[in-house]
Amino acid sequence: MWPVATELFDAELGARATTPATVAAATTAADRRLRFDGVTLAYAGEGGTVQATERVSLGLAEGERLVLLGPSGCGKSTLLKAAAGFIEPAEGQVLLDGRPVRGPGPERMVVFQEFDQLPPWKTVRANVAFPLRVAQGLGRAEAEARADEVLAQVGLAEFATAFPHQLSGGMKQRVAIARALAMRPRVLLMDEPFAALDALTRRRMQQELLALWRQVGFTLLFVTHSIEEALFVGSRVAVLSPRPGRLIGELDASAFDFDQAGSADFQAATQTLHDWLFP
Ligand code: ADP
Ligand code: MG
Repeated sequence: MWPVATELFDAELGARATTPATVAAATTAADRRLRFDGVTLAYAGEGGTVQATERVSLGLAEGERLVLLGPSGCGKSTLLKAAAGFIEPAEGQVLLDGRPVRGPGPERMVVFQEFDQLPPWKTVRANVAFPLRVAQGLGRAEAEARADEVLAQVGLAEFATAFPHQLSGGMKQRVAIARALAMRPRVLLMDEPFAALDALTRRRMQQELLALWRQVGFTLLFVTHSIEEALFVGSRVAVLSPRPGRLIGELDASAFDFDQAGSADFQAATQTLHDWLFP
């Protein structure tokens, strides 16, 4: 179980607010691509409301890769859903390019953990092309051309006419990523997209995602509960407390690459995140 030492937490939060790692939290300027502004999120249930997050303020600049890291149930997915426009904040707001998010939109594409997020009756190409036709109004030829272009970027050119059930989990996730990127979203939202993959495939997918980012240069909000994945994938890592998720601190992870997992800096960052997660 995760510790919920609320008073201790508050005391530490006060102290931490002055540490360099948390100073970044104050830089949520209006020019951010995506911004969480004092976002409290709650679910109404039969036994009352479940508060998922508490006044989370976070900014995400264009081209940045921000990872939300926190224990299971702390409200990571809920924050992502609020950015996607699936749920509305009880308090505060989510802003895209300075405008409040009101409902889902094609400029905020989501990739989920589940392998079954692709309609199974559509080919890989049709899966990627479909949102381009529906949400962007592209004609069939144009949509399929763009689909093929992105499928090539994720290494699936030969599988354009395959169906999802003919693909491995990792390949299905590549299709889901291709489908999202083909829309050229203002921000790509990924909710533990590699968590259900085996360790080797997961590592390969992390590397491929970074290679794609270097090639395409998208803005990424990525959710995980893995410290290592957070440091590899993120250019910045924001850590949340146990539910209701509050921002504990932010850490610059832009220097870490896969070949640095053994470095002293990487170990120190791992330790910092660990200490924030397990106070
Ligand atoms: P995380 O992604 O960090 O594991 P979630 O954002 O999924 O956490 O959930 C945060 C909290 O909200 C959890 O306590 C969870 O049980 C609760 N929750 C999530 N979805 C719902 C829902 N649809 N209805 C009620 N409570 C929910
Ligand atoms: Mg989740």
